[in-house]
Amino acid sequence: MEISKVAHIGIAVKSIEESLKFYEGTLGIKCVGQEEVRDQKVITAFLPLGETEVELLQSTSEDGTIAKFIEKRGEGLHHLAFKVYNIEKALEELKAQGIRLIDEKPRIGAGGAKIAFIHPKSANGILIEISERE
Ligand code: ZN
Repeated sequence: MEISKVAHIGIAVKSIEESLKFYEGTLGIKCVGQEEVRDQKVITAFLPLGETEVELLQSTSEDGTIAKFIEKRGEGLHHLAFKVYNIEKALEELKAQGIRLIDEKPRIGAGGAKIAFIHPKSANGILIEISERE
């Protein structure tokens, strides 16, 4: 599989507005936009930083995955996203190696990217996203 960079670092937060006080106000990483991804019940905020991006994730529903994550573990690092060139091919390779996947097929994430998640059980406890985006 060909991975070119860390596409973004996903952080689960209770409130994007509140957390921007730290990320923008204190760290000075500017937020360039927000987007609601309805089928994932999240609002994402994008904070580009060099070659990568910090992605803040706020749940829009109490039964959303981000809300459940925060309920169980508190706010914090949620996932790490790697940029791949060909997500279908990457998924085939992962399947062939017996890697446990959350998404067998790519779905559309924020910014229209094709994304899929690898189960943390196959990735040393980290939820890994692979993402193909222009
Ligand atoms: Zn992500």
